[in-house]
Amino acid sequence: MFDIALLPGDGIGVDVVAETVKVLRALPGVSFAFTEYPAGAAEFLRSGDPLPEPTMLGIQKHQAILLGAMGMPSVRWPSGKEMTPQIDIREKLDLYCGLRPIKLQHPSDGPLKNPGAIDFVIVRESTEGLFWKRGHQYTTDLPEALDTMRISRAGSERLFRSSFDLARKRRKKVTLVDKANVLPSMAYFRGIFDEIAQEYPDVETERVYVDAMSLFLVQRPQTFDVVVTENMFGDIISDLAAGLIGGMGMAPSGDIGPKYAVFQPSHGSAPDIAGKGIANPVATILSAAMMLDWLGDSASARRIEAAVAKVFADPANRTRDMGGSLNTQSMGDLVAAAVA
Ligand code: ATP
Repeated sequence: MFDIALLPGDGIGVDVVAETVKVLRALPGVSFAFTEYPAGAAEFLRSGDPLPEPTMLGIQKHQAILLGAMGMPSVRWPSGKEMTPQIDIREKLDLYCGLRPIKLQHPSDGPLKNPGAIDFVIVRESTEGLFWKRGHQYTTDLPEALDTMRISRAGSERLFRSSFDLARKRRKKVTLVDKANVLPSMAYFRGIFDEIAQEYPDVETERVYVDAMSLFLVQRPQTFDVVVTENMFGDIISDLAAGLIGGMGMAPSGDIGPKYAVFQPSHGSAPDIAGKGIANPVATILSAAMMLDWLGDSASARRIEAAVAKVFADPANRTRDMGGSLNTQSMGDLVAAAVA
């Protein structure tokens, strides 16, 4: 039995987690205990804290954490910034390795004419980079505001080793995305990449500037296998990459650390469609497959992926974000039936 902490959070997070629990419960030969914890903008409105201490302590007692989405544009700190407890969790639990698999289920789901096989993983550094000083506050009476890009040797080494280890289980290619031609921190990042690459002579490497990467992701996404980058660049190219496979509703993620891991869709709480029952739950369902892999049950993980592929083989089975007419629940029902 797997013991899982659930953080449904805000907006569509609640709906997509419910469908994912349905799929996990339908898996044969494996059982789950789920414990739900409050966090997010709604929790802030209730208790004054978007990430209460009992939640932070509680989630660490389980084998893995499954998160929906957090934050609402209407609920902000006095500084004007949105609440982002999901980022606080990443930093507190040292979840440095943000894995974002990008896989096209069906050629007609993406915007490209001849997409071929799009199947790569973005590895986003998730504890430093340009998010490093995000806790700082500036008022507009100050003459300027500064953000800091922190690239540490230890943080980069472990990120690159994770990326090369992952590539060895895949097609053995790692693409570094940086801005080493302009930013000194990025030249340092690249220098450490070059060092770690020498430990993996069997893995092909490629180095691409982030602006060129925006172009290549559209022109030749099939050529990428593992794509590693710093926090902010990873944030941006993840959304672009999700656009290649049908949108945010298809992009799962896992934030992995030395001890803990949180699995969640790459999307946010989607306030524009919250409460309508039309969110696509597939990103969260595929995140649960990543969770099972991390827990060592790769058979169940492959079973969920095969169930999603089976459902998507019929182009009629799509939620509205992908031009179909299924709602959140009916997509959850289809995947649950396919997995059983
Ligand atoms: P965050 O910054 O918290 O990641 P965001 O501002 O990038 O959030 P999202 O909440 O991810 O925004 O939503 C971006 C767009 O994608 C919105 O139009 C939203 O409706 C759509 N979207 C996101 N997730 C889904 C989903 N699961 N199903 C359908 N549409 C989605």
